[in-house]
Amino acid sequence: MSAIAQIRRLLGIDTRQKDYAYSRDPNFGHISTSRVADKWTKTTCGYCSVGCGMLVGTKDGKAVAVRGNPDHPVNLGKLCPKGLSEHHILDSPGRARLPMLRKDGVLTPVSWDEALDTLVEKFTGIQKKYGHGSLGVVGTGQLLTEEYYTLGKLVQLGFRTPNNDGNTTLCMASAVSGYKLSFGSDGPPGSYEDMEHADVILLVGSNIADNHPILCQRLERNRQRNPNRSLIVVDPRVTKTAMMADLHLPVKPRSDIALLNGIAHILIRDGLVDATYIAEHTTGFEEFRNFVAEFTPEHVAKITGLSVDVITGTAIQYGRAKAAFIGWTMGVNHSSQGAVTVAAINNLALLTGNIGRIGAAPFSITGQCNAMGTREFGFCSSLPGYRKYEDAEHREELAAIWGVDVDRIPTKRGMAYPDIIEAAVAGKIKALWFIATNPVVSFPNYKLLEQALRNVEFLVVQDGFFPTPTSDFAHLVLPAAIWGEKEGTYTNSERRASKVNRIVTPPGKARPDFEIFLDIASRLGVKDELYPGWTSTRDAYLEMQTVSKGRMCDYSLFTWEEIEANGGIQWGGDRLYKDGVFPTKDGRAILHCVPCEPFSEQPNAEYDLVLNTGRTVEHWHTRTKTQQVAMLDSMVPSAWLEMNPQDAARMKLKPHDKVTVVSRRSRVSGLELRITGIIAPGQVFMPFHFAETNSNLVTLGAFDPISREPNFKQCAVRVERSAPN
Ligand code: SF4
Repeated sequence: MSAIAQIRRLLGIDTRQKDYAYSRDPNFGHISTSRVADKWTKTTCGYCSVGCGMLVGTKDGKAVAVRGNPDHPVNLGKLCPKGLSEHHILDSPGRARLPMLRKDGVLTPVSWDEALDTLVEKFTGIQKKYGHGSLGVVGTGQLLTEEYYTLGKLVQLGFRTPNNDGNTTLCMASAVSGYKLSFGSDGPPGSYEDMEHADVILLVGSNIADNHPILCQRLERNRQRNPNRSLIVVDPRVTKTAMMADLHLPVKPRSDIALLNGIAHILIRDGLVDATYIAEHTTGFEEFRNFVAEFTPEHVAKITGLSVDVITGTAIQYGRAKAAFIGWTMGVNHSSQGAVTVAAINNLALLTGNIGRIGAAPFSITGQCNAMGTREFGFCSSLPGYRKYEDAEHREELAAIWGVDVDRIPTKRGMAYPDIIEAAVAGKIKALWFIATNPVVSFPNYKLLEQALRNVEFLVVQDGFFPTPTSDFAHLVLPAAIWGEKEGTYTNSERRASKVNRIVTPPGKARPDFEIFLDIASRLGVKDELYPGWTSTRDAYLEMQTVSKGRMCDYSLFTWEEIEANGGIQWGGDRLYKDGVFPTKDGRAILHCVPCEPFSEQPNAEYDLVLNTGRTVEHWHTRTKTQQVAMLDSMVPSAWLEMNPQDAARMKLKPHDKVTVVSRRSRVSGLELRITGIIAPGQVFMPFHFAETNSNLVTLGAFDPISREPNFKQCAVRVERSAPN
């Protein structure tokens, strides 16, 4: 079987193959009859932002199997390996079961009363001494939307600190900022359906075969519908997605802006733009045309390493398409130039009118299952309902709904996640509360993070798993319920709010985050004021409907029951901006001139390679969940380093050698070497999932000045043979 056929089969897109992993038969492949479910409950996958609908089978109150929901419009019954094995994370040995308070240096089980009394006493004590803003809170894309909303009120109106952000800043903040730059608001304009109808699909820095595998079905359906459609993948590495492409553009690291500007240059030069759309719906064209004049194919070829013919051919294909789709993920977002790269992508869609029509969209594919929920209701970069902190009218509207003094609502965004960490190092943030996130593995430049964690006077880690590398630093650990143990909604990448249901009870004394937040609010004395009569996440949803009424993300138009019955509902409908009117002051989208800057840490004689980081399909983020699933963990139990044969020969390294990656900041040892043409000469790649070989020991502490997203992707390293144990 060819490599591509194997990938297709792995992804469940080869209809001739039927195997356990992709069977729709609920009990197919389950050997023991004791695991045959007697009840199936609908829910939504809790891993990635694709948002697959699934059915979880239970027997005697335990989750025993998962199958894809054949009626769900997102995945039509298919699931990837993570989704199919998701029930194994429930009640796994690594679950957090008891509140733990550090006493005499040791995390010691305590009652919930003692845990939450201590949290409120410590947080308010620190705030009294150092000011409200001395508390920093970092949430997650793993909570229910109803929980973000509840948490945001607690943090900003209850604890009165503006310094509230999510780990979503590590993955999709640049997409948010880029959309705001171009269109005046966040909100992915398209739908997954567009991937089935586009004539040209351009994926930039997006390895969906590993990261969003079920989306690959859409590409296959498109091919069946239109054998002449073209899939173009822009990625420095020959990823699994690149192997599926009709054309792979192996650009030099961080040269994507030059490529995008170069495509714009050719579109304008060759008259492949939509002049009517530009005239009626955009601003800045004249300046933009002058700006991209210098991005000739020859100039762009030098920067990207691509040939003039390939650059020109790509631009012509994109420009001639009746409907062109551009998707991107972390190859774009994980950059100190991420926000403006998104604007450069949006430029292409605007120049050609490829927005608001079927098959035509500039589309950010998000990371976590509910990253979008933070964007809508999270009190992070915007106020609930996509309102702006800076807008007095928006603050007044919310104050009236909440019945609070408007002065309690911050007039500007508080610190973003990286700024919270830097403020903790500087001694300005004195208390930290991490919720369902594991920064010791996920945050860049570990040494700086460690200083922050050691510096604060009180650190709370609220998580569904214990121990985690981050809980090792905690003064207080709060055990939380996870996916499958609570009820509410997630929003996926295509703005589809989907229902998430409680299937089993949490293990031990773990409690849903929502209950923990309400209990803290009671102890803080704000429960009746901020959450009058609330007993469940449904109450949060009902208030979210009021808060979002008439806004872009209008939840007042559908109930939980309607969401459930429809397999999710997309707020804003199937596509945004169908009428070409954008939420900017003059209703026009903005063409941005985006300079192409070299990435900040260039290789030199001492650090001669460029490190790229990424994922593998079997694991999820920092592996707190997937290492609990034997089937997944045994497939990929440890990290590796990919190196081109030319570099390996120069360094006299052999396949399977143990190597160490060294940067200016630190080193990661014990990586198994894979010598492969998948990676270009001068570059190396390692996955970021593994605490034992933490890629963030070596990554750079550089952040996008607009979005604050970290530059995880490019840093200068050298590779050494690891010393024998
Ligand atoms: Fe879950 Fe994403 Fe896999 Fe779908 S593609 S089953 S949402 S992890």
